[in-house]
Amino acid sequence: MSFKSLGLSENLLKAISKKGYEIPSPIQVKAIPPILKGQDVLASAQTGTGKTAGFTLPLLHLLSENPKHKFRPIRALVLTPTRELAAQVYTNVKEYSAFLDIKSAVIFGGVNQKPQVATIRKGIDILVATSGRLLDLQNQGLLSLKRVEIFVLDEADRMLDMGFLRDMERIMKLMPPKRQNLMFSATFSKDIRKLANGILNHPVRVEATPENSTVDAISQKIHRVAKSKKTALTIKLISDGNWQQVLIFTRTKHGANRLTKKLIGAGITAAAIHGNKSQGARTKALAGFKNATIRVMVATDIAARGLDIPLLPHVINYEIPNISEDYVHRIGRTGRAGASGEAVSLVSADETSYLRSIEKLVGMKIPMEIIEGYEPDPNASTEPVKQGGGRNRNRGEGRNSSKKPKAYTSKQSNSSNKKKSRNRNRRAN
Ligand code: AMP
Repeated sequence: MSFKSLGLSENLLKAISKKGYEIPSPIQVKAIPPILKGQDVLASAQTGTGKTAGFTLPLLHLLSENPKHKFRPIRALVLTPTRELAAQVYTNVKEYSAFLDIKSAVIFGGVNQKPQVATIRKGIDILVATSGRLLDLQNQGLLSLKRVEIFVLDEADRMLDMGFLRDMERIMKLMPPKRQNLMFSATFSKDIRKLANGILNHPVRVEATPENSTVDAISQKIHRVAKSKKTALTIKLISDGNWQQVLIFTRTKHGANRLTKKLIGAGITAAAIHGNKSQGARTKALAGFKNATIRVMVATDIAARGLDIPLLPHVINYEIPNISEDYVHRIGRTGRAGASGEAVSLVSADETSYLRSIEKLVGMKIPMEIIEGYEPDPNASTEPVKQGGGRNRNRGEGRNSSKKPKAYTSKQSNSSNKKKSRNRNRRAN
């Protein structure tokens, strides 16, 4: 199968070849033809499968084939859960449209809106956006979605997880009802299927990998370890293995900061990336990680989502996630684009029940190894760790979650905390 045989235009083929892609990935083979036919598509694909090109290439083809509008109204909207993903999709749109007369823009929160507004004013065909900034600008009358022909919802599962359901519903009402809809999601929960039913019209369903299965190229390992020895074990693994590019996941932002400090103290260059960091700090950390001046990036799930880090050899789960699907997302960061990778999880006694759920989801028992000197604590309780601090599952990085967080206590439900949380979430998007 070649990109040419998928029916993409010459100018797109030129851009694809400039990117160095030789053959389309499985999701591209499956998604591009129905999108080109104008059908709605529901795609099951996680980051690393080439899904962005899977929707961007046919979208660009359709927009450039159809007659141009004099004033360039926004004809395609791509909605993403995070700023990083929005920036990454936009970069792809720019690259693939290099030889087309198509203009695009990206908007997200945390940065000055002025340059974004100025670009939109000049006229754009494609807008890539996170929901918060999109609604802000729309409320200010600075953009209109009334001429949108194609709507792409990227990482729909994460949009729901982050509490963006209400935003999505509002955005949907701003677009004409007759349009083409493309929805991409790594996982397919009941909520996702419900969302898909509400948005998509007789969709063609395509899948890149079997649902929730982990990529074969990734070798997975568990180290049972005492909680108090996790930091020391992390340092040992990185140093002994001479690992040069490591992505570490922690459950909380404070945990990410603490571990980053300890790594730096041990002479390992590291940076934390999470929702409390400014956009500038996040971009800088990611750039440093990509160009290898930073050896370790410590991230929370939400912040890591959408990061395009090719050929990542090592992922460490400093804590395993309490949401099993997050495990699949996390280890999907390694073994990308055919390269092999290694995902190591440090599991303390209180994470035992999470491990069980993860193994059930991935349908395998993950190989386990105890490292001498870093044994688990035989006296530790196997009671699950409290998801405390009133944080919802997004560690405060989403907004207005429609679901009540599991560890919601009466103390945290007072209005001042709610307000604080709302403001924090607003900043995150
Ligand atoms: P994505 O899943 O969209 O985040 O893409 C993952 C990575 O695969 C990105 O670095 C893309 O540039 C790259 N990519 C996408 N399509 C192809 C392809 N057909 N051949 C090689 N690399 C690709």
